[in-house]
Amino acid sequence: MATANVRRSLHLLLLALPLCPLCCSGCMSRFDAATYRPRDGRLVNDAAAVVYSSRYEIDLAGLERFHPFDIHKYGRIARALVADGHLKPSDFFVPAEVTRDELLLAHTPQYLASLGSSKNVARHLESKGMKLLPARSLDEGVLATFRASTGGTIVAARQALRCGLGINLGGGYHHAHPDHGEGFCIYADVPIAVRVLQREGLIRRALLVDLDVHQGNGNAVCFTGDDDVFTFSIHEAGIYPVPKARSDLDVELSPPVDDERYLDVLKHHLPRVIRAAKPDLVVVLAGVDTYRDDPLAHFDMTARGIQDRDAYAVGQARERGIPVLYVTSGGYSPDAWQIQYRSIANLLATFAGTCSEPSVLAPSAGRTAPAAVK
Ligand SMILES: [Zn+2]
Repeated sequence: MATANVRRSLHLLLLALPLCPLCCSGCMSRFDAATYRPRDGRLVNDAAAVVYSSRYEIDLAGLERFHPFDIHKYGRIARALVADGHLKPSDFFVPAEVTRDELLLAHTPQYLASLGSSKNVARHLESKGMKLLPARSLDEGVLATFRASTGGTIVAARQALRCGLGINLGGGYHHAHPDHGEGFCIYADVPIAVRVLQREGLIRRALLVDLDVHQGNGNAVCFTGDDDVFTFSIHEAGIYPVPKARSDLDVELSPPVDDERYLDVLKHHLPRVIRAAKPDLVVVLAGVDTYRDDPLAHFDMTARGIQDRDAYAVGQARERGIPVLYVTSGGYSPDAWQIQYRSIANLLATFAGTCSEPSVLAPSAGRTAPAAVK
């Protein structure tokens, strides 16, 4: 995602500029604690849980659309899942923010302290414009969003152990390191969730299956030397991150990579990786930037291929009785939210028996969010 650092910095500057006036009025009020209510949802046919909060989305009066990452994709997926009958609004689990105690399971105190400085946050997010903003505005407008979705990964992981499949509509920030952020990732949500479950004695071993087109360098570093956590990443060679970290198994592919080639590689490696890792939890990082029209990578997968990829990865774990945590990670095509939606809807249909086939969606930007989906 960082092949276009200059372009991203410009986009983040556009994101940053309106934060200052909004910190005292307007869109920031939607994040007020009084309107934010963490709560339990309902399992889908006792087989899946879906985690989402409206707090995952940054609303900057429309200027956020200039950023390559569609921050509204989470809400669009949630609304489509309801509109197509897979879930009721009350089914969503709404997470609390990750706590400082939980953040310290994966990050250094020095790094967390550094986030109190706009200059440092701007550096971690590779956006010079952000250093001009008050730290409080950045905390409330940007960091709180990451804390909410990181809390969502923890909730989805807990629910995965309860019912078999926990889906967070956000998360998958696999470039966040113990001591710094990068690649628009601040908090290492998956390592934090794994450490929380380990600390509570709920799991011992975990396997990360990183299917995002970029290598999960931050997660690889978080788990370096940890024999209880196996990191497996399939990614494009020659793009960000450069240099790459070292996962337990890295499979680098050079384009062209179509559906058939990708699935052949995944099917070759995943069964033996699961046998080697013997995990109590499988985490699927399901970035859709493997899509053929993604502007930050060069794979040639179709939406159907990505749907089949995710179903295969989840299915390999579920048929062995292993719980699965699914997080969404990257994806920068205008179609990214629809591709991710179709894959999640297919997972719910396949593993939780919801309606069989997701519809081919028309653009849904004008849909109204169900009131109970917070
Ligand atoms: Zn990516």
